[in-house]
Amino acid sequence: MVLLGLLDEKQRIIDKLRSRLDPREVRVAEKDHHARREPRPCGLTVHTGIGCSYSCIYCYVPDMGFPLRPREYPLTPLQMAYAIAVNPYTLPSRSGTMLAFGSVTEPFLPETRGKTLDYISTLKRHLGNPTQISTKASLGEMDVDGLKRSDPEISVLVTIITFKLHPRLEPRAPGPEERLETIRRLSGRSLHVSLFLRPILPGVTEPEIQLLLKRAAESGAVGVVAGSLRVTRGILQRLRLAGIPTSSIESRLPRYPRSRRDQVVVPAGSAKRLVQETAQRLGLKYYPSACAANMDAHGLSCHACSMGPCGPPEGLPRFDADEALQAAEELGISDVSVSLRGNRIVVHTRRGGVVRRFAHMLRDAYKRAVVIRG
Ligand code: SF4
Repeated sequence: MVLLGLLDEKQRIIDKLRSRLDPREVRVAEKDHHARREPRPCGLTVHTGIGCSYSCIYCYVPDMGFPLRPREYPLTPLQMAYAIAVNPYTLPSRSGTMLAFGSVTEPFLPETRGKTLDYISTLKRHLGNPTQISTKASLGEMDVDGLKRSDPEISVLVTIITFKLHPRLEPRAPGPEERLETIRRLSGRSLHVSLFLRPILPGVTEPEIQLLLKRAAESGAVGVVAGSLRVTRGILQRLRLAGIPTSSIESRLPRYPRSRRDQVVVPAGSAKRLVQETAQRLGLKYYPSACAANMDAHGLSCHACSMGPCGPPEGLPRFDADEALQAAEELGISDVSVSLRGNRIVVHTRRGGVVRRFAHMLRDAYKRAVVIRG
């Protein structure tokens, strides 16, 4: 049993955590967005803080309205575990929904690092999901020990996108050499660490790809995740003010951002191909997206999107249409049919809205793409 077992486990965890919280703590956790948000393709992002003081020029976080002065996230670790457990889209356990730390703040700022480690160890203990963290911080021995103790299987991504232009692009973040030292420390403690080459800045990152990967490999990274830049009007303006030429970026834009908050992805196909070729030559694993590194760190297979497949097909959970239908019934969805076509799970239904939750659970539990047909 895959999905039914995970649904039982979800309920057991919810009951246990609720019994350890007082009614006010339960109410606050249930209202929190971690209890409601749909996971992104990389999993459910977990916020350990609000705001980030690194002020990297290419970052979209300020344009989303987050403050530059960081503070730790208000939920206690148990509340956070409960919020994630009750989220209608998530499934617990190693076979469940991926979790990703580090999306809207640096998790190892002085203001956030304590909460980050507390969250990771509590989520590991109570939920056990495959977890990933991305950082630009300089991690000392104590941080690395804390991470190892909290979740020895965690996938760690260390961002370095340029040596040359770091002072202009990331003026308040630790330098690339300190981050290479972080990779060395993490690798020295047998943690799964990858270079996070995101965002690839056209005209800035591309000429340095070979050197960046070489230095990361020498420092002990097992792989590299490459990702595109997303620009807003604010980012383009900040890049120009910092003296970074934006012509290579603007010439590749499919359209100009419409507003300060509108994010447009800058295609980086040729740079990603160079990253892949260079990685192969250096013996680094190439991960097409962050979740691929998370899957690899946990020895899991996933064939849920066209960027994969990640891991061998024999590593996929066995799909059982009867079990999936029983799970749909448990979720209160009666008028569906479910079948496997190749490696895709096809759901026939006329109840689009309700079925989104079911589709997320099918994708997470069986690690396959899900197609909903009306
Ligand atoms: S197939 Fe790979 S890249 Fe796609 S969702 Fe799964 S782990 Fe991520």
